[in-house]
Amino acid sequence: MISVRTACPEFISDIGDMLRLFLGDVQIVEAEGPADYEHVVLESNGNIADRWICGDASHELSQPAPTGTPVQVRRARKRQVKMALYELLRKMTGMRPPWGALTGIRPTRLLYEGLDMGLSMEEAKARVMREFDVSEDRASLLCEIAEMQRGVREPEPGSFDLYIGIPFCRTRCSYCSFSSGEIGRNGKLVAPYVEALLKEIAGAGRLMREAGLRVRAAYVGGGTPTAISCGDLERILAAAREEFPGAVEWTVEAGRPDTIDREKLLMLKRMGTGRISVNPQTFCDDTLARIGRIHTGADTIAAYELARELGFADINMDLIAALPGETPEIFAETLAKVIELAPESVTVHSLAIKRSSKLHEQLHVSGAGHSQVSAEGAAEMIARARSELTRAGWRPYYLYRQKYMAGNLENVGYARPGYACLYNIGNMEETASVLALGAGAISKWLFGDRDLRIERAANLKSIEEYVARVDEMIERKRALILPEER
Ligand code: SF4
Repeated sequence: MISVRTACPEFISDIGDMLRLFLGDVQIVEAEGPADYEHVVLESNGNIADRWICGDASHELSQPAPTGTPVQVRRARKRQVKMALYELLRKMTGMRPPWGALTGIRPTRLLYEGLDMGLSMEEAKARVMREFDVSEDRASLLCEIAEMQRGVREPEPGSFDLYIGIPFCRTRCSYCSFSSGEIGRNGKLVAPYVEALLKEIAGAGRLMREAGLRVRAAYVGGGTPTAISCGDLERILAAAREEFPGAVEWTVEAGRPDTIDREKLLMLKRMGTGRISVNPQTFCDDTLARIGRIHTGADTIAAYELARELGFADINMDLIAALPGETPEIFAETLAKVIELAPESVTVHSLAIKRSSKLHEQLHVSGAGHSQVSAEGAAEMIARARSELTRAGWRPYYLYRQKYMAGNLENVGYARPGYACLYNIGNMEETASVLALGAGAISKWLFGDRDLRIERAANLKSIEEYVARVDEMIERKRALILPEER
């Protein structure tokens, strides 16, 4: 446990994120008396100095007092407070995280901030490196992503993207952070869930027609959508296509290979699904067994080849680096297999071990004997994925970071030119409004042009509660999307 006394308690959660960036998953408490980390603010001649003290170490950062709207001033102050602490932690630990002082903010947003100020790509890159201490390597990654997003990042006005969540899986992966109430097994909850979801699809379809909005890209995720029966999934897709016609992209996350068969793939084709995901995570059978997935690497290859045989021309594969017990060599074998299979896109995740996962319990509480990959090992895997995929013709097109990621790294989506997923870009870059249906799904709506504001409406996470209160979920969306009716 780390105690903090700060002159800016309104930023305590961001301060906590910065401490965890260097010190790992520690608990942060705010103190009124003497604390492990103390922060004072000194103001003079239009400058603000943030001084952080920890034992004998201290660092003071003096910068001009920010100006602008209250929102801009608050954002700038938060960055100053965090940057001063970052410098102290760098001094104390000798560490330099690959993403520098970036926590709680999308890295691409900072690059776009510079581009929006009229800077060239090189100047915007230099700004990210200078102001946030992002490494040259990661700043270059941001530039490559911005190049891939050119022309597809911004949807047309009056459009939205659609997400439909199907929260069922056959078994639970050890790194899964859904609570048992949020993720069902095939069983008695499926039938009522499907009925509730159909009701929400119909209600949301009416709402979108009323609002005069049209769908651009649609994504069906989970859980594992293909974990439910072919008939149930067909009803959902048929209803969604009828209520939301005209999407230029339909993705269904087939996800786990053990849920994919000829009948389901043919149905997905019939329903106009252009893009699917077949996710190996790893091709190492020992790892798959260790993380609680009931399929083998050979099952993944068979599912992928069947999808190709049936004419799927846009397939994504998800991989996870730093799975427990894996070495860079094992990860390299998985990577080589993916490159040989040549899907149109590959998403490379860095393992994020959230507290609610079984893996967290196994690694930190019961000590069940799994070995956690070191930060260096994770970094080696991620670097290898980037260089080999790029060499083989894929390009990074979106990126996001999560808390608790191995080695403070990132998740990156790579695609062959022309195969970047519109939904992923719009959702991650927050350039598209997202209408999200199903338990736990969070709709995000964009308002305004210059002073962009994002509002959210969350559906209930528990499957049972979602089923019981689906009418209220539709009303929440009405209040979000047609606020003048509030
Ligand atoms: S497939 Fe995804 S949602 Fe399902 S158990 Fe695994 S991690 Fe959780």
